[in-house]
Amino acid sequence: MSPMTPARLTGTPGRTRVLIVGGGITGLAAAHRLRERLGPDAEIIVAEQSPRLGGKIHTVDFAGRPVETGAESLLAARPEAIDLARKVGLGDALVYPSAAKPGLSLGGELVDFPAGHMMGIPGDPADVTAVANAKERPDNGLPILEPGADMSVGELVRSRLGEEVLDRLVAPMLGGVYAGDVDRLSVRAVMPQLASALERHVRLTDAVAEVKRPAEGPRKPVFATVDGGLSRLVTATSACARAEIRLGMTVRELRQTPYGWEIIAGPVPDPIKLTADAVILAVPASPAAQLLRAVEPQAAAALSAVAYASVALASFAFDRLDLPERSGFLTPASEGKTVKAATFASNKWPHLGRRRQIVRVSMGRLGEEALLQHDDAALAKTALRELGEHLGRRLPEPVEQRVDRWGGALPQYTPGHGARVAAAREALAEHPGIAIAGAAVDGVGIAACIASGRHAADLIAAQLTPDSR
Ligand SMILES: Cc1cc2nc3c(=O)[nH]c(=O)nc-3n(C[C@H](O)[C@H](O)[C@H](O)COP(=O)(O)OP(=O)(O)OC[C@H]3O[C@@H](n4cnc5c(N)ncnc54)[C@H](O)[C@@H]3O)c2cc1C
Repeated sequence: MSPMTPARLTGTPGRTRVLIVGGGITGLAAAHRLRERLGPDAEIIVAEQSPRLGGKIHTVDFAGRPVETGAESLLAARPEAIDLARKVGLGDALVYPSAAKPGLSLGGELVDFPAGHMMGIPGDPADVTAVANAKERPDNGLPILEPGADMSVGELVRSRLGEEVLDRLVAPMLGGVYAGDVDRLSVRAVMPQLASALERHVRLTDAVAEVKRPAEGPRKPVFATVDGGLSRLVTATSACARAEIRLGMTVRELRQTPYGWEIIAGPVPDPIKLTADAVILAVPASPAAQLLRAVEPQAAAALSAVAYASVALASFAFDRLDLPERSGFLTPASEGKTVKAATFASNKWPHLGRRRQIVRVSMGRLGEEALLQHDDAALAKTALRELGEHLGRRLPEPVEQRVDRWGGALPQYTPGHGARVAAAREALAEHPGIAIAGAAVDGVGIAACIASGRHAADLIAAQLTPDSR
């Protein structure tokens, strides 16, 4: 390493400085919350290694429309994402999907995806018999999960409702969110409400029915997005946080000192040394583990255990294409296709308009990383051919197309993930002034990431301003 460049970020004596590593939605939500908690004088720095903020949120102009290359919707059934959007001035820009529902592509036919399920698990086997042979296995009279215990989604569904429900309904649903292997995904991490219901019920369908029981009052939409694209949420959150944004700054090392934290960042031949009172790590598991190795090996080991799946998205714009009145479709891996799902974005999101049909095709399940080695033209060709097969006709030439790759983008929470993260946090509690947050630890969805970033900010703010607790 070359001699260290003197600190370029010199703090003002007496001002609290927090460094947030990672400029995805988690890091920005943390910055926003820290500003609320620490007030206008605190120095909040966001170090982001890439040339843009947002991480897996990235809106681009595509065929004259703002189209998402990564995440496309916010879960509105929980409050955090909608609350943040309103707080940063985007309340009026929130838009909701149409009533169109996704289909299921089975044997070359698009059929209705049954209603009344939770992530594909039915609350009543009769609801899904049109597409899967579902019969609840006899129970043993004991609750399915002991308190705090965990199992894989695959084991849970296969043993209670059989292979077809798992293959045709649950795996495609979870594949859309995690691109994962159902036999390696933790029930407690991916369906925490169901896991607690399983501690009370002896039948899986009863637990699902309890979790799915409709809330009192008017029905609220489950999903939302931002008119103009989710990148607006990124920009508005960053602006409201009034943080110092350092793009192109990779954080490489962390050291705890008697006064706080010493951070090495920037290019290897010309590193920058910073100091901060506290650090929030809002990066994927592998960089978080690497940064924690010298600080707290136990926490680093827990993070290293999180594997990631990769996905590729091909987007097409068509001038004239009669799409079925659906929001898209999912297809089981057993259908033997590369395409695992498609979103008919212009059907799903009325704000995009119907002048052109925009279709996003998703490819890649855990273990299919080789797929991402294909060049853009080959991936787009496969996506288009298979889209035609799923729709049962040859498609016209798209007027525009693009391919986006998300290598190692979706964390896979294996059984015991929650307990490992809790142990990591307990070990980190020995080191005041550091917190971990984001999709690597607390949930893949944007709403979960926002909650996680805000929680980390609250923890750090409480440590920095103990009187405010
Ligand atoms: C294709 C796709 C579709 C999705 N669709 C949805 C959806 O519709 N709805 C939904 O709710 N969720 C969706 N998700 C999931 C969701 O987008 C992500 O889980 C979430 O945005 C992750 O946010 P994050 O801030 O925790 O991490 P990231 O977005 O990964 O941000 C972490 C940031 O840290 C930076 N970084 C890494 N290492 C360093 C370092 N050493 N120094 C400095 N910076 C560093 C990275 O460059 C990155 O910008 C989707 C994800 C993908 C990939």
